[in-house]
Amino acid sequence: MVGDPAGPRPGPVYELSLRPPDRAVLERLNGLGFNIGHVTPEAASIFATASEYEYLISQGYAVTLESVQPSPPDFSGVAARGLGVYHSYATLTSELQAYAAAYPGITRRISLGQSVQGRHLWALLITDNPLVDEEEPEFKYVSTMHGDEPVGTEMCLYFINHLLTNYGVDADITDLVNETAIWIVPLMNPDGLELGSRFNANGYDLNRSFPDYPADYSFNIWNGAPNLDGLQPEVLHLMTWSLAHSFVLSANFHTGAVVANYPYDADPPIPSYTPAPTPDHALFRDLAAAYASNNAPMFANNLPPFVNGTVNGNDWYIVQGGMQDWMYRYLGNAEITVELSTPKKPAQSLLPTYWNNNRASMLAYLEWVHRGVRGVATDLDTGDPVYPAITVSGNSQPVFPDADMGDYYRLLRPGTYDLHFDAVGYDPLTVQGVVVTTGAATQVDVQMTRATNLQGAGPAACVVLAALLAIWGAAISRRDKPSTR
Ligand SMILES: [Zn+2]
Repeated sequence: MVGDPAGPRPGPVYELSLRPPDRAVLERLNGLGFNIGHVTPEAASIFATASEYEYLISQGYAVTLESVQPSPPDFSGVAARGLGVYHSYATLTSELQAYAAAYPGITRRISLGQSVQGRHLWALLITDNPLVDEEEPEFKYVSTMHGDEPVGTEMCLYFINHLLTNYGVDADITDLVNETAIWIVPLMNPDGLELGSRFNANGYDLNRSFPDYPADYSFNIWNGAPNLDGLQPEVLHLMTWSLAHSFVLSANFHTGAVVANYPYDADPPIPSYTPAPTPDHALFRDLAAAYASNNAPMFANNLPPFVNGTVNGNDWYIVQGGMQDWMYRYLGNAEITVELSTPKKPAQSLLPTYWNNNRASMLAYLEWVHRGVRGVATDLDTGDPVYPAITVSGNSQPVFPDADMGDYYRLLRPGTYDLHFDAVGYDPLTVQGVVVTTGAATQVDVQMTRATNLQGAGPAACVVLAALLAIWGAAISRRDKPSTR
């Protein structure tokens, strides 16, 4: 039998544990298309259909049934909104609406689009001048793409409350809100939350459903459009929204372990259970450490292969079609995956403790968005924004400016760098010896000269970027209006 880790898995899904989590066995099951979740030294989780479960039993695999999904949570006791309670889709919706209404000067609530069953994927923007696109780095926290892992939704709500109630009170938080476009998507898989399922309502694992390398993956936005065929709606909404906003840094939240996991989750042909480093491996280790080192239980987690609460995704277990790899490879958006709690849904009474453990981490990680190099690329003659791919010597991963303002941000560790700017129709430009410190980003504005010989200019395929932005931008600007629902 050959399935697909992404799905679909319609009907009942059996959550199984495999003890011990033999790596060769997991490798074989992954190759057969099983959906494998968290791997610990004691056990691995497998989410299987009835026929997959039967297959495992018939082949003599040592699997134990843990639970059957969907198993809808009881939301009857959570009619009230507030912090420290698990929210339903309805109470989350009214919570975000209330925050947007109470803080109109520094928030904007939008819907990224609707789920399979028509629920909104809400996003709350927190920044000064929330209706104006400013020259500021854009940041996002996204939670609960697995509907049965709801702790991050609650951490997002605590975080929203913390930023809003401390704005104008705490100088550091006021500065962060003034100087950053902070987007929070507390619930990426609302159908899964309501159904009590890891998957979306079509039976797909959203963290296995992004375009993947190398099968249908165009490497990055410079090289062309991603293949949008057959994508799950929740995945498509995250992709189009992320493209429009040129996010610099982000994290997405899960549960089932306590660790900050960084890319790559997969980089074929590198085998599972070995590190799959990105061109920004050292940077990602710093980013994951920024989160983990501020969370005492996470920092203390040194269960192999974790190191001080951090791990390279592929070194832990291979995940193909994951969100963080797509965000980084395709958009140059540095993203990590944070696992918040060992139980997938710990007791509600523990939520304040989880918030105490994650508050400093969520702030410290966000603050990283202001490091490295930043600037604006403009046309020497007209002053109009130019949209180059920006690379650093010795590093193949480009970043791309914001489509509206032409402002760009390149996260970098302290050091001295040569920056390259390549835009279609313009002469390539190099800025040498840019010094980066641990402090605020170094400003490097560039003026680019129109190429006299277009043959010699940047990759022709970059034209696709303009077309993509036009099409997706129109769709997104229609949707980007403040919503009252
Ligand atoms: Zn998860």
